[in-house]
Amino acid sequence: MGKLPGCDKWRATFWGTTELLMLQPVRELPALERLTLNGNIADLGTFLNRCPRLRLVTRLSPQEFAFMHLLDAQGTQYTNVDLPCFPRTTSVKIDVHNICFTRLLDGEFSKLDRLSLTGCIINDLGTLLSRCPRLRVLKVMTAMSRHDIKVHSASLQELVFGPHTECRGIEIVTPMLKLLKMEVQADKDIRVFISAPLLEMVSWRRSYTGSPIVFGVWHLRNLSLERRQFLRDKHLQNPSSDGQRMLANNHVLFLDMCASDSSDAELDFAQEIQKNMATDFSVLNLSLKTMGHAYGATLLQLFSVLQVHSAMKILKVNLLMSKKSGSGVTQACSENCPCDSPKIWRSQSICMTHLEEVEIKGIKGEDHEFDALKLILKCALLLKRMTVGLEISVKSYRYCTKEINNISLEYPSVDFHVYRPGTLVLHARSSCT
Ligand SMILES: [Zn+2]
Repeated sequence: MGKLPGCDKWRATFWGTTELLMLQPVRELPALERLTLNGNIADLGTFLNRCPRLRLVTRLSPQEFAFMHLLDAQGTQYTNVDLPCFPRTTSVKIDVHNICFTRLLDGEFSKLDRLSLTGCIINDLGTLLSRCPRLRVLKVMTAMSRHDIKVHSASLQELVFGPHTECRGIEIVTPMLKLLKMEVQADKDIRVFISAPLLEMVSWRRSYTGSPIVFGVWHLRNLSLERRQFLRDKHLQNPSSDGQRMLANNHVLFLDMCASDSSDAELDFAQEIQKNMATDFSVLNLSLKTMGHAYGATLLQLFSVLQVHSAMKILKVNLLMSKKSGSGVTQACSENCPCDSPKIWRSQSICMTHLEEVEIKGIKGEDHEFDALKLILKCALLLKRMTVGLEISVKSYRYCTKEINNISLEYPSVDFHVYRPGTLVLHARSSCT
């Protein structure tokens, strides 16, 4: 690692080493306005603090340009800095904290192929991208920003946005994009528009501040869409069994909802799905923290929204432990609790034409849970397999298996498997196998 000497009178300098440069600890360059170098600069924050007049950094190599901050970020104070232009560079990597690039200097990043920004804030990312006509890969792991995320690029193929909080709007128009990874925490009013028709790989994580209400007592906490190799374990309670098989290249939609009596803002679930879906999915993974409430009516409402996603083949429902904290007692529904509305859900059905497999974990043996199983069976006319995992505290395994066995008799084309932890307690074999 080389040391860049300091001089009070330098206004411009050239440094001709390919080593990583560090400013000598006590030196300053108070008059420096232009710096030309072959190498990269370590600890940009300290460097910029000691070069208050620096306005232009030029790197002679056409390959890579990297700014790195070697110290941990401290405090919340940001230093405003102009972002210099690197017209001959193909790769720019800036990894600094407590730096806000407030203004772009003139010029075009005409050869830039990869741009990676970590820790810093770019006030005007949209304008920056408009000056990168060949940019193929963009990675932004910035600090929080209240600015909209606006990405318009005709060349971009990979886009990664790290944990991003407090932004108000996301607008992505990328006709060539194939990979999108994005993690956003924001309130329900965030505007999202994504146009990426060639998208192949998606990882989209959206968490909600304030957990808005989507159905009756149900609040949405997280929504994620990921492409992953999806494991289906034949033995639900024993995922290491040799019954595993792997379904490759599936997009999985994760919904995490919690039942609560609190009066948060309402969210139009259909609109939310519409704006967050950059692509379709074949697996729905639903986590429900029930707090003792019924969920059949909510499944029906979910199906009515999601039936347009005709590729959905697998439904996984994970019923989470839902005891009042400290009391050990499951909260009971109040009379006429809205969780059971609309009341007619037991006689309704929504045609889920491609649904082939359903797994439900955490059944406790309540009557409304058997009604929910019947609802799913009515909706999924081509269902091949139903796997039920009984909750460890279920009142009577014998009663549950008897009820499910009775249901299975009405659907002879479906393979039923019922487990209590570690044990298969019912296998009602399909007549088709
Ligand atoms: Zn209820």
